[in-house]
Amino acid sequence: MANYIQKPKGTQDVVPSESYKWHTVESIVADTAEQFGFREIRIPTFEETGLFVRSVGDTTDVVQKEMYTVSATGDSTFTLRPEGTAGTIRAMLENGILNEGFPQRAYYILSCFRHEKPQAGRLREFHQFGCEMVGSANPSADADVIALAKSVIDRVGLKNIQLNINSIGCPECRANYHKALKEYFESKKDELCETCNDRLDRNPMRILDCKSPICSGIAENAPVILDFLCDDCKDHFEKLQENLTLMGIEFKINPKIVRGLDYYTRTVFEFITTDIGAQGTVCGGGRYDGLIETLGGPKTPALGFGMGLERLILTMEKQGCEFMEERKCDLYFASMGDNAQKKAVQLATLMREEGFKVEYDVVGRGLKPQMKYADKIGARFVIVIGDNEIETNSAKLKNMQTGDQIDVTLDENLLESFGAVYYDILMGEDENFKAFVEAMNDNV
Ligand code: ATP
Ligand code: MG
Repeated sequence: MANYIQKPKGTQDVVPSESYKWHTVESIVADTAEQFGFREIRIPTFEETGLFVRSVGDTTDVVQKEMYTVSATGDSTFTLRPEGTAGTIRAMLENGILNEGFPQRAYYILSCFRHEKPQAGRLREFHQFGCEMVGSANPSADADVIALAKSVIDRVGLKNIQLNINSIGCPECRANYHKALKEYFESKKDELCETCNDRLDRNPMRILDCKSPICSGIAENAPVILDFLCDDCKDHFEKLQENLTLMGIEFKINPKIVRGLDYYTRTVFEFITTDIGAQGTVCGGGRYDGLIETLGGPKTPALGFGMGLERLILTMEKQGCEFMEERKCDLYFASMGDNAQKKAVQLATLMREEGFKVEYDVVGRGLKPQMKYADKIGARFVIVIGDNEIETNSAKLKNMQTGDQIDVTLDENLLESFGAVYYDILMGEDENFKAFVEAMNDNV
């Protein structure tokens, strides 16, 4: 074991050679969310503890066991956000966004913190893409939000992700359901875990979400919420299904989904994969018509989801989905001697200003290791500058893939020469670019 400090349990490093996977996912997520009319919101990493206790709910695992709470000097305690919805709604209220007309749509990509038992797909610090749509009680809003999640899943290239939907009703129909659940679980009280015994009185529906095999075994035969829905909730659920069908989105009704957080009403949904083991919920969300009022705002219907990006990427890797490779170095200046290095710096600056990806030696190595390095970073072109090149103010521009060389001058004309060969390469490699250029030429 090395004697330097290791990362905390349940956290992950994304090293530079792996970050292209995150860039792929983040750019697809942002583009898709924008396409659906969502704009990004950024919120603090920590909030007053009370925000999560009030919104997520004090009978949930998250609040009871998983929060990272720190007390700063003074009297307030703060909690690292376990999810993004509470902070987003808090920010919308605090910034008066809900006075700006409906619907309001916001998305985020952020880190969440939960003190859980780390395992594949379950971390203590993880990342969510999430979105919130505020101000519509209409089932077409539910369908639109689900369509956004589905669209992201399709665009990253995932297959066989099942959408499960359910309705957990409104406070009115849930009261009857709670009564039925309580009766059912009361008879099996002695077998339930301690936490669920406590939940029995306070929020029996939570028992359905318990991860203990004994409790979930008992829950198998519990009454289902769909038998208790009031007419309005039933209608909402049916219209949601009509909308999804209209959009060509396949789904399965799963009356067992209740979701892990307290604030949900009516629609709840999950996108599930069987490819990454037990932690297969890639995305979970639903409607939370009571939350904004709970947080001190006006009664306002809303819904959203959170998509776990580690689980998404894990599934993409398992399924062999493609990630956008990072752009390799366009041009490397190898230099011999101080004057040559200075020239390399000047030319590299010029080329970078034009948007090319350029490197030169910053270690002070000899020519051979410089060339080895250029090869390692996959540089497309190399220019070697030595005393002779300085004297003649010209050098060879070498294509590292083909070995072809052309003469170039070591001044601002280099830009034009380099631009020309680069253009030829793009024309050869990139079908889209080629088609674009041909169309442009046809139009001239
Ligand atoms: P689970 O049942 O897997 O614990 P959850 O109901 O606690 O999920 P949500 O609070 O709805 O999850 O969070 C939304 C998404 O965030 C999940 O569907 C999952 O993809 C991801 N997620 C939740 N907890 C973790 C975690 N500890 N590590 C990695 N991803 C997570
Ligand atoms: Mg959980």
